[in-house]
Amino acid sequence: MTNQVQPHFGRIAECRSCRSTQLEVVLDLGQSALADRLLTAEALGKPESRYPLELVFCQSCGLAQISYTVPPAELFCNDYPYFSSVSEELQRHTIANVRELIAARRLGPESLVVELASNDGYLLKHYQAAGIRVLGIDPAEPPAKAAIAIGVETLIDFFTVDLAKRLRGSGVAADVVHANNVLAHVADTNGFVAGIEALLKKTGVAVLEFPYVRDLVDHCEFDTIYHQHLCYFSVASVDALFRRHGLYLNDVRRIPIHGGSLRLFVEPVENVKASVRSLLDEERSIGLNTVEYYRGFGARVEALRRSLLETLTDLKAAGKRIAAYGAPAKGCTLMNYFGIGTDLIPYTVDKNRFKQGRYMPGTHQPIHAPERLLEDQPDYALLLPWNFADEILAQQAEYRARGGRFIIPIPEVRVV
Ligand SMILES: [Zn+2]
Repeated sequence: MTNQVQPHFGRIAECRSCRSTQLEVVLDLGQSALADRLLTAEALGKPESRYPLELVFCQSCGLAQISYTVPPAELFCNDYPYFSSVSEELQRHTIANVRELIAARRLGPESLVVELASNDGYLLKHYQAAGIRVLGIDPAEPPAKAAIAIGVETLIDFFTVDLAKRLRGSGVAADVVHANNVLAHVADTNGFVAGIEALLKKTGVAVLEFPYVRDLVDHCEFDTIYHQHLCYFSVASVDALFRRHGLYLNDVRRIPIHGGSLRLFVEPVENVKASVRSLLDEERSIGLNTVEYYRGFGARVEALRRSLLETLTDLKAAGKRIAAYGAPAKGCTLMNYFGIGTDLIPYTVDKNRFKQGRYMPGTHQPIHAPERLLEDQPDYALLLPWNFADEILAQQAEYRARGGRFIIPIPEVRVV
């Protein structure tokens, strides 16, 4: 243990949460190109950065995390932004979440809802429509500007404890702080949580969502490991993190989004509900916060790799044509670690127009608009954003009606 602040990039010497140095490697995905670093045609011929991608486990607090932090300037470029509003499933999930919180916390015109990583206002716009004051904070300019354009007040900035204190000093105090899929992505884990604490009213609640490491391991979702995604929380490891900052995990739910996530309700006053106690008990009984739980995961990932490569090479040998669907960050991990090049899969398609015309990192498949599937009608399409499989299969009914089939790689290879 040390009180020295560790540098926020490079190889970590200590746990991002508790600062223990007892870190054990549990899965090594080799040197990987940066997920989301989609390439332009000009960049194709130039050398591409690769960084170690390795999952380590903290023997002290039970937090699984990757061992290498890529400098944020390298990682978060904003010329191929993610727009949350693109996914219909995410929109439905968001509206239900907002309605429930407005009722449960009796929010009204005097209330303030702050969202960290507010993206294009996909969530806050629903509070605003209900007459509730909102403030978004997001460093990514294109989606933040899209939020401002629809009237959602947004600070274009990184959320830090300093920013939180400045806001609090100027009278900003939140009844609700939302932080969806961001806590696991920030290099300064403790600073981010301290910032939430600084921003929340004593009666306020922070609502956070992120993928649950238990689902990741149980369902072999190894492709959700990429450089932007630094921490992989269990209930016990995140509980310890919040308590260190005077915040209490009082309620928790498992939700199906993104392959299995947690929604946490965190408050400055301790009032721990049965939901938290029962998940902590489950984690203890299955040994989730022990390194043994993670051993064997690597062997299952390897078996999945063999199974998918065999399926693809057999199909190709039989004269079938294969494309991919989607260019998500997780697709980069899968394609890179499995070594799926343009010889096996010549291109992919994606609904996000900012991704179209670019190339997959590392494996260099060009990204076309989804219409390409109908124009070209490949026999098979490898579905990379498998977490949105139902939605995508429904959207691609025409491709399937004409005989096209999808290969879903996770948790095991399925052809539908
Ligand atoms: Zn730790």
